[in-house]
Amino acid sequence: MRKIAFGYSTRCNVQCEHCVAAESDHRNNGKMDLLQAKEILVELAHAHVQGISFTAGEPLIYLDDICELLALCNTYGIYTRVVTNSFWAKNPESAQRYVSRLMASGLSQLRLSYSRWHQKNIKRENVINAVECCVENGLDYFVSFVTDFSEEDDQDEEYLRQHKVMFFPEPVIFSGRAESFERAPIRTDYQENCCSMNPYLAPNFDVYACCDAGSHFTKTNFFHLGNAKQSRVGALLLKSETNTLYKHIRTLGISGIASFAGFRSKDIITHRKCELCKKLFNDPDMLRVLENEASSGLAAWHR
Ligand code: SF4
Ligand code: SF4
Repeated sequence: MRKIAFGYSTRCNVQCEHCVAAESDHRNNGKMDLLQAKEILVELAHAHVQGISFTAGEPLIYLDDICELLALCNTYGIYTRVVTNSFWAKNPESAQRYVSRLMASGLSQLRLSYSRWHQKNIKRENVINAVECCVENGLDYFVSFVTDFSEEDDQDEEYLRQHKVMFFPEPVIFSGRAESFERAPIRTDYQENCCSMNPYLAPNFDVYACCDAGSHFTKTNFFHLGNAKQSRVGALLLKSETNTLYKHIRTLGISGIASFAGFRSKDIITHRKCELCKKLFNDPDMLRVLENEASSGLAAWHR
């Protein structure tokens, strides 16, 4: 199934310390023109994209625009998700207003971001108001609990459990504003670290093969597929689906590629997935080697 993260805007009403989509990132700055956003949506529909996640900054500061885009997706039968910080759910009435608008526009699912960094800006009661409103109205939701797995997050996790919220932990990505965060050393078991790589359309219409840290590979621009104003978006998505190294990321996994590249096993297990990915693919020399080996040595590197 083709799906894409749609960055209508990187603007946000708060400034979380850990934000990957920080507006200061000059490549993604600003907001799309609504008309152009609609045109690209139609193109995505014709390119058989079946799932669109409205993400990047805070989409719901542009509620009217997002509702128009959702309605357009709905006419093409595209599954839609909005990723939000729940700023709008200050009380049950306000939550109901937003949820009603979104549902009337055909939204399929809300993803509510939650973390100790988000909750410095947004009261955690907002997230509960949003959850309860989704449950009452029958709108699918889940809470994305961004965490660095430290004890500091125990209380916030407990709060979600007490309120019987459906949540999924998501590792903080040490990119964007979180690049400079101190991070505890890790040592995992040997995980494959395969990555499904959700493509990302930025507000300036640049398309990336990976929606998370992928737009921050500044030395190689490894995940940049092109610009949707200059190329057909279907062709850019095809590029993502057929690139041999990307395929290895999806199937062999980052750990297997690192092992092939000469990283010691005992070092591989001390890296987080996106950091290991950056070491491999944001290093021009390493990238050259891997590109040369993509269809030969690396392709033969399997059990
Ligand atoms: S709410 Fe999301 S987009 Fe806004 S600053 Fe926080 S992490 Fe970034
Ligand atoms: S592992 Fe690489 S491809 Fe996957 S999300 Fe992280 S940076 Fe993107």
